[in-house]
Amino acid sequence: ADVMGYFEQRCQASRRLAEQAKAVIPGGVQHNLSFNYPFALAFSTADGAHLRDVDGNRYIDFLQAGGPTLLGSNYAPVRQKVHELIDECGPVTGLLHEYEVKLAELVCRHMPAVEMLRLLGSGTEAVMGAVRLARTYTGHKWIIKVGGAYHGWSDQLVYGMRLPKTGRMEATGIPGGATAYTQECLPNDLDELRRKLRWNRLRGGTAAVLVEPLGPESGTRPVHRDYNAQVRRLCDEFGALLVFDEVVTGFRVGLGGAQAFFGVRPDITVLGKCLTGGYPMAGAIGGRREVMMSLVGGLGTTSRRAFVGGTLSANPLSCVAGYHAIVEMERTQAAQKAGRAGDRLRAGLDEIIQRRRLPYVTYNMGSIVHLQTSGVLLMDTSSLWKLFRAKDEAKRRKHMMEEMGAAYTAHGLITLAGSRIYTSLADTDDVIDDALNRFDD
Ligand code: PLP
Repeated sequence: ADVMGYFEQRCQASRRLAEQAKAVIPGGVQHNLSFNYPFALAFSTADGAHLRDVDGNRYIDFLQAGGPTLLGSNYAPVRQKVHELIDECGPVTGLLHEYEVKLAELVCRHMPAVEMLRLLGSGTEAVMGAVRLARTYTGHKWIIKVGGAYHGWSDQLVYGMRLPKTGRMEATGIPGGATAYTQECLPNDLDELRRKLRWNRLRGGTAAVLVEPLGPESGTRPVHRDYNAQVRRLCDEFGALLVFDEVVTGFRVGLGGAQAFFGVRPDITVLGKCLTGGYPMAGAIGGRREVMMSLVGGLGTTSRRAFVGGTLSANPLSCVAGYHAIVEMERTQAAQKAGRAGDRLRAGLDEIIQRRRLPYVTYNMGSIVHLQTSGVLLMDTSSLWKLFRAKDEAKRRKHMMEEMGAAYTAHGLITLAGSRIYTSLADTDDVIDDALNRFDD
C-alpha cells in the first residue's frame, strides 16, 4: 500500500505521460528497461549519481541505463567534448573522422586481444557481425552460446531462445531455420560443450563459441574461475573462434575488460555500452588482425568477405564521446572506484539480508551487483515435472523481485528490475550510505 501510495501521490506527471505514451507506443515504453510498474516513470534530469523525474522526485540511479554510464550520468567533461564536436561538424558525415582512429587506437591499447576495431551501431549488431566474421574466417557454420546469456535480439541468438528440455521457443516470430545452426550449453558444463564441438566437427564445424565472461546475463549465473580458460582450450582444439561478449563488462570490469581479469585472450571481442560512454551507437567488434581482415576480404587465410554495415555507425559524435569517456575512465580510475562502491554496497546489502533474515543472496563483480531471491538456481530440475515446478517458482520469484523493484523506486532507488545494480564513479561513500538506508527501509 505504501508503494502504491507513493506512485499515486507523488508521480502524477509521470502517470499522465505514461497514459499518453500507451496510445502511441506499444506497451507504453520504448525501452525494455523503462520502469513500468505500476506505470512508467518519466525522467527529466540526470546528473552523476542521481536522476529526477518529471514530478521532481529524486532517485539514486543504479540502473545506469543498463550499464553504459560508468562515469555517472551526464558526465560533464565528455558532454563538453560532444558539444564542441557538434558545433564543428554536426553528428554525422559518413566519411572518415579523426576520432574514429583515436577511439580504435585507444581500445587497442587497452585490450591487447583487440588488434583492430570495427565500430557498429549497437551491441546486437556487433554480436551479429562477430558471428558472421567467425563463419567467414573459419568456413564453419555452427555457433554455440551459453544458455541464458543475452547477446542482443538478433534472430539467431535471441534471448531465452529455447526453453531447456522442452525445446519450445520462448521468443516468437523466429522461424526454426534462423536458429538451425545455433546451439546452447549450460553454463559451466564443459563436457556438454565438448560433446557439441565434437558432434559439429563432422557436420560443418563450429565457427564460434560465444561467452559472456562473467557468465550469462553479466554473471547472473556465474561461471567458475577457470571456465573461460577451459573454453579457450576447447576452441583451439576444435578450430572454433572464441568470442567474448564484453558489451557489459568491457571497460566496466576494467579498461582491459573481463578478458584482462581472467587472463584469457579471445579471438573476437564484442563491445558496446561503455564504449561510447552512454552516447548513442555503442557497438564494436575487435580482434586478431588476420580475423578482422575478413571484414574487407582478400587478405589473411580467406578471400571471402563478411559484410557489415550501418549508416550511422562510427559517427563522429559516438567516437568523440567514446574516446573522451575512455580517457576519463583512465584518468579517474572509474572502474576501480565504481567497483569499490559496488563492493561496499554489496557488503551493506549482505548485512541487511542477514540481519532481517531475508530470502535473498547478493554478490558482485566490482560495479555489477546482483540481488537475487535465493534458492531458484539450486532447485532440482531433473525431471520434466520438477522442471515445470522450478520454472513456476522462478517465475513467482521474478515477479516478487519486480515488486521489490517498485518498492525500491518508491524509496528513491532505481535498479534493473529489482535484481541488478550498476554502480558508477559518481557513487561516493555518501551515496552508498544513503542507498543502504533506503534499501533497509
Ligand atoms: N550483449 C550483452 C551481454 C548485453 O547485455 C546486451 C545488452 O544488454 C547486448 C549484447 C545487446 O546490446 P544492445 O542493447 O546495444 O543491442
